[in-house]
Amino acid sequence: MDNQEGIIKLLKEVGAIVNGHFVYASGKHGEIYINKDAIYLYPQKLYWLCLLIAGHFSSVDVDVVVGPVLGGIPLSQWVAYHLSEINGRGGKEALAVYAEKTEDKNGFIFNRGYDKVIAGKRVLIVEDIITTGNSARKVIKATHSAGGIVIGLGALVNRGGAKINDFCGISNFFSLVDLKLNSWDESDCPLCLKRVPIDNKIGHGRAL
Ligand SMILES: [Zn+2]
Repeated sequence: MDNQEGIIKLLKEVGAIVNGHFVYASGKHGEIYINKDAIYLYPQKLYWLCLLIAGHFSSVDVDVVVGPVLGGIPLSQWVAYHLSEINGRGGKEALAVYAEKTEDKNGFIFNRGYDKVIAGKRVLIVEDIITTGNSARKVIKATHSAGGIVIGLGALVNRGGAKINDFCGISNFFSLVDLKLNSWDESDCPLCLKRVPIDNKIGHGRAL
């Protein structure tokens, strides 16, 4: 079992990857749902996942790890913790801060004086799930606006096929798991055809 298979197994065990018949936010139907909130129930597992992200960036000089609220907060803490523990950094501690949503909810901003913490610093951005990459792009933009130098983007799951070129100015994009999620219009959905009931507990099927 390679790393990726082991991580998918772990995410299934904690209920973060669920198989069934779901309606996505786009309205399309699919057979896999990612329930990212389930990951944060298990700090020991998150510790291990963040160790793998930190391991990927171990040869990169990182001053500050940035995560967007809310899931990015524990991620940034654990990744910074592991980076600080890595040999060869000479005991240099990596800091962790989080980006908050702007008032209009359309972007991210650094409050609490965190903008000053990242100004002129080498920043690693961490995300839980990357779908379109839109949220990560906004965090990158906010980091640049605060004067930070974004050196990489690390994620738990890339579920939308995002590529490094989707993130302007990023030279190091890494995700623990790349998942291809098939999705269909309701009229073409093979699960609907087989009359598999739509999951009404998670996903957007609950509204139906
Ligand atoms: Zn369906």
